Amino acid sequence: MQGRDLQEQLTAFLARRKREIIEFRRDLHMHPELAFAEHRTTQRVAERLRAAGLEPVVLPQGTGLICDIGSGDGPMVALRADIDALPLTDEKDVPYRSTVPGAAHACGHDVHTTVVLATGVFLAQQARAGALPGRVRLLFQPAEELPGGAREVINAGGLDGVDRIFALHCDPRLKAGQVGLRVGPITAACDQLLVRLSGPGGHTARPHLTADLVYALGKVVTELPAALSRRVDPRASFSLVWGRVAAGSAPNAIPDDAVAEGTVRCLDDAAWHAAPGLIRELLDSVVGAYGASVELNYRRGVPPTVNEADSVQMLRDACTQMLGEQSIASTPQSLGGEDFAWYLEQVPGALARLGTHGPAWDSPMLDLHRGTFDVDENAIGVGVQLMVATALTALWDGRRPRTEEPVEDAALA
Ligand SMILES: [Zn+2]
Ligand SMILES: [Zn+2]
Repeated sequence: MQGRDLQEQLTAFLARRKREIIEFRRDLHMHPELAFAEHRTTQRVAERLRAAGLEPVVLPQGTGLICDIGSGDGPMVALRADIDALPLTDEKDVPYRSTVPGAAHACGHDVHTTVVLATGVFLAQQARAGALPGRVRLLFQPAEELPGGAREVINAGGLDGVDRIFALHCDPRLKAGQVGLRVGPITAACDQLLVRLSGPGGHTARPHLTADLVYALGKVVTELPAALSRRVDPRASFSLVWGRVAAGSAPNAIPDDAVAEGTVRCLDDAAWHAAPGLIRELLDSVVGAYGASVELNYRRGVPPTVNEADSVQMLRDACTQMLGEQSIASTPQSLGGEDFAWYLEQVPGALARLGTHGPAWDSPMLDLHRGTFDVDENAIGVGVQLMVATALTALWDGRRPRTEEPVEDAALA
């Protein structure tokens, strides 16, 4: 089933279930759970899937789940949602505000989970009616923010047999009803680093008899990003930004320990691979001048998410079919990291941006990873339409016999 029939059925489904869908999202929003602790969320999603006649399988470490729809040996498309929340305080004054101190769905993963769940319930109906041209696998992954949940899913066999994979992510810069698409890299590599300086400590009256760690750390914090801007190709959009610095406890004592922590973001694969070695070299040269010892703990995060062109075209076709061409927006590559990148290292696919901006809101207050983040809930239905139509488009495409290049036969020409 394609075209108008699908659109009508899906519109009726969404109208019938609208309240239930919104309530599900709000329930998740009120009960956010941090990475690898998403037990309640996993249970709630599993209950709904079972009620739809499906058989979800919880991942080995106890949170997150995989659920297949349809049978047979046709093509298989995976749809991925992330289910974890962030360690932030929910600052909104709404009835569905987080009830868990220090935890909030400030990255919209409650929306992603609800969209993929509702998509699965609709597709399960299609499968029962014999209208699913292949199989769909729902991946509800834990711990995107850590990151690392994607690796758990892959290790548990979540990509086995999958031909193509799709996901969406809330984007408060786009209005609800719009979908942001991009071929090629759409998110950046994101690593974390911790720099620790150490020395004997001493009196601030006699910095020359010790190593002045506070001064040296100040140099690291300012000089390292400056030197990197001259040592890395500017086209790589390489950025080191500090998020925490800590040293000392008294105004007249030089501490024996000083720490700076930050993130490295990068759009370019070669620069990403070279980063740890270059940062080590620059640190040694900056800190060496002040006689302190330096330790670098460089934690690799995720590679850039690189959207495959055919998969983006399927998202585009699905948008055009369900939402109209005016719903499609181009979207810039973000410096945010996204562990969906790990899946795309193994199978083709694409991540779309789901517009969540309501008409009346003050946009700077609603950015992701802020305690005030919220969405226009109309975006959820848009997400379901996009995911349903994309999955079906990809399945129909996967069933098409691959035509061989025609062989030129000179004798018959
Ligand atoms: Zn996030
Ligand atoms: Zn996110």
